[in-house]
Amino acid sequence: MAKIIHYRNKCIGCGICFELQPELWRMSMKDGKATLLKSTEKKDIFILPIGDNILQQSREVAKACPVNIIKIQ
Ligand code: SF4
Repeated sequence: MAKIIHYRNKCIGCGICFELQPELWRMSMKDGKATLLKSTEKKDIFILPIGDNILQQSREVAKACPVNIIKIQ
């Protein structure tokens, strides 16, 4: 199964991920960074397994992140 990996500490809070995929992302009111919903955290890296139905869309989101901190594995 593919996974979205989010290196959250390097997020600049541009909001593009949330704009493109609001069902998976929220912008934090606390620190202004993006939060990957329902992900699990390990050492500041957030991981969410995803189904094939949203794989292509997630790849586009990863490509659109200006600081390249969303990866699909
Ligand atoms: S697109 Fe990248 S930099 Fe912009 S809010 Fe999302 S994770 Fe952060």
